[in-house]
Amino acid sequence: MMDTFVSITIYAEKEPENWHQHVAEAFNRVHEIEEMATSYSDSSAVGRVNSAAGEHAVEVPPDVIAIIRQAIDIGRASDGAFDISILPVLRLWHFKSPTPSVPDSQVVAAKRRLVDFREVRIDSDRVYLPRAGMGLDLGGIAKGYAVDCAAQVLSAHGYRDFLVEAGGDLRAVAGELTKGLRKIWIRHPRQRERYFAYIEMDDGAVATSGDYERYFELGGKRYHHIIDPGTGYPSRPVVSVTIFAGTTALADAYSTAVFVLGPQRGFELLQRHPEIAGLIIYQDGATDGLKWRVSKNIEDKLHIMEDQN
Ligand code: AMP
Ligand code: MG
Repeated sequence: MMDTFVSITIYAEKEPENWHQHVAEAFNRVHEIEEMATSYSDSSAVGRVNSAAGEHAVEVPPDVIAIIRQAIDIGRASDGAFDISILPVLRLWHFKSPTPSVPDSQVVAAKRRLVDFREVRIDSDRVYLPRAGMGLDLGGIAKGYAVDCAAQVLSAHGYRDFLVEAGGDLRAVAGELTKGLRKIWIRHPRQRERYFAYIEMDDGAVATSGDYERYFELGGKRYHHIIDPGTGYPSRPVVSVTIFAGTTALADAYSTAVFVLGPQRGFELLQRHPEIAGLIIYQDGATDGLKWRVSKNIEDKLHIMEDQN
C-alpha cells in the first residue's frame, strides 16, 4: 500500500484476543487514506480536486482536509520548500516510466508557475484550486498521516507496545514491554546493506526522505523524486534527511521540506523547531563524499556509525 510495504509489529506477553481483526482494521485505515489521497486516480478525493482546478470546489473527507491543512502549515514553515501543489511539475518527470527522460527546461518553467500552495483554498469540507492546470500531490505527507491513523487504531484497541512502518515512515509506541529497549536503525543512503546511524527511541515518529528511493540516472546524473519548487528540478545536494517528531505526518512532511531546504537552511529550520529533530546527510561538492549535520536536541540519542566515513 502507499507505493511501498506497510508493516505492523505488536509486542505482547501472550497472544492478544482478536489481534487479527485489529491489525486488519489498522491496515484498512491505511488503505482508506491511500484511496482518498492518491493523485494517480481521477476518482480519488484528491484526483477530483485536481480535475476541478479552475472550475469549482470539491467536497473531500475530513482526513484529506486534515492532511492539506498540515501540509500548508509546513509549506509556510519551510518558506515553500514543501509544496503540495507540486503535481504539474512532478508529472513532467515520469519517475515510474521504464524510459524516463529530463523534461524541457521551458516546459518546467511554465509548469512551475502553477505551483503555489498559498493559493489552495479550503472552505470547511471543500477544496478549490483556483487555476486550471494546478494539482495537488500528497506523496510527501500522506504516508506518514496513514501510519498515524493505523497507530491510532491499535492504541484504541488497547495495544501499548507496537510499531507501524510504511517505507521508512515509522511510528513507535513503547509500554512496559519495550520501554528503553528500542533502537531504530537508519539506512546508509549509498550502501544499501549498511546502516548509517541508530537512535534510541521509545515513543515517537521517524521518517526518512532519500534520493535513493525513487530515481533514474542519465548522463551520470541522478534525477530523484524530491523536487525543489524553486527550480522545478530534483533538489540537491542533500542525499537523505531523517526527521524525528511527535507524529509521523510531521516527520514525513518535514523530512521532505528539510531535504529541499538543504544542509544550511534545513538545519536552521530544525533549530527553529525544537519539537522536531533531524539528521541531514548531504553530498560535499568538493570531495564528493558525504557530510552530515545533526540537530542539537538529539545529539545524545543519535549514534553515527563512525567507521563508515
Ligand atoms: P518523501 O519520500 O516523503 O520525501 O516524499 C516525496 C514525495 O513527495 C514525492 O514522491 C512527491 O510525491 C512529493 N514531493 C516531491 N517534491 C515535493 C515538494 N517539494 N513538496 C511536497 N511534496 C513533494
Ligand atoms: Mg516526506
